[in-house]
Amino acid sequence: MRRIRTRAVHAGREEFEELGVHAPPLDLSSTYPLRDPERAAASLGRMAQGGTPLDGEAIYSRLHNPTVARFERALAELEGGEEGVAFASGMAALSAVLMAARERGREVVALRPLYGGSDHLIDSGLLGLSVKWVRPDEVVGAVGPETALVVLETPANPTLDLVDLREVVDAAGTVPVLVDNTFATPVLQRPHDFGVRLVLHSATKFLGGHGDVLGGAVTCDAEWARALRRIRVATGGVLHPLAGYLLHRGLSTLPLRVEAAQSNAIDLARRLTGHPYVTGVRHPSLPGQDPRGLVGRQMRGPGSILAFEVEGGRAVALRVLRELRCATPAVSLGSVDTLVQHPASLTHQVVETTAREDSGVSESTLRVSVGVEDVEDLWEDLDGAIRRAHAHVLHAST
Ligand code: PLP
Repeated sequence: MRRIRTRAVHAGREEFEELGVHAPPLDLSSTYPLRDPERAAASLGRMAQGGTPLDGEAIYSRLHNPTVARFERALAELEGGEEGVAFASGMAALSAVLMAARERGREVVALRPLYGGSDHLIDSGLLGLSVKWVRPDEVVGAVGPETALVVLETPANPTLDLVDLREVVDAAGTVPVLVDNTFATPVLQRPHDFGVRLVLHSATKFLGGHGDVLGGAVTCDAEWARALRRIRVATGGVLHPLAGYLLHRGLSTLPLRVEAAQSNAIDLARRLTGHPYVTGVRHPSLPGQDPRGLVGRQMRGPGSILAFEVEGGRAVALRVLRELRCATPAVSLGSVDTLVQHPASLTHQVVETTAREDSGVSESTLRVSVGVEDVEDLWEDLDGAIRRAHAHVLHAST
């Protein structure tokens, strides 16, 4: 099999020779001429049930769009899933999985921490499912006849905790496991290889990679893909074709971006560890932070997101954000440029305070999505911002 860099460049481009094109055609049609009404009716009936269009012919863009379908095929190939189903955002993707799961049972078993929005959606019971929050070693005791799904993230947002996928899949038995692979991407981790049934992405992040597109995607087997497309047709949470085009293009450079950002993150994590005003650093590359040895066995590398705690609590953490000159103080992650944010007040604000603190997110935690800039510039920026924030808050108050 070809290697990841080659597959990232060529995936989803199989029919280009036949089409006589070199770049993916961007099909913005919302509707299509239907010269054979009987065939169109049959095709629409298939798609309403989650099937694919007859002879690949599109009818209406909420049902099927060729540009989006190319991105779906390419992502499925990189993840090693049978099919891909794209959505308007990562949250639309998770909502569709939960709706499909609701037909199989009444309860979700989930591991904390998750992205705050995912935690909130699952915890709120908004989609008719209750939740049992557990640690990885409690999955086996928690799953029962009413369990529809097991949900986890690894590396987790924002603590970078790693979970042993094989262990959770074994503990879940016949219950499908959903892994949010947004942080790792298929470049570093392919959960399907460990028996995971559903792999979810906020495609907004690394897959797009340039901070200019919102999208979500799930890779899975044909049975789940059918269930998810049926829900997508019915609820309309589709990915816009322009977003599909940008995400497909983003995949071509995904391995290069992920590797470059990861090498910066390894360096910054090490330097932050020795910083006088930093009280803790989280990154799987650091000693003691991968106790199960998953980097190398389950992940090809530790990734490019890190988190750290500053001395002086919330006030210093928030001041660091004001002092940044090169990195942008912003939510989201996985872009070519570095983004820093304060999870307790932003991405994880919606998580209940005790649950947030129990999972290791404190008021002094900052999350950094390391970009591909020159690492020396990033270090100067971070180090300078931390020192100025420390002086501003702590010295001003003495
Ligand atoms: N999963 C993770 C790990 C995320 O970080 C996010 C967003 O920050 C989501 C899911 C939700 O994705 P979206 O913002 O594309 O809806």
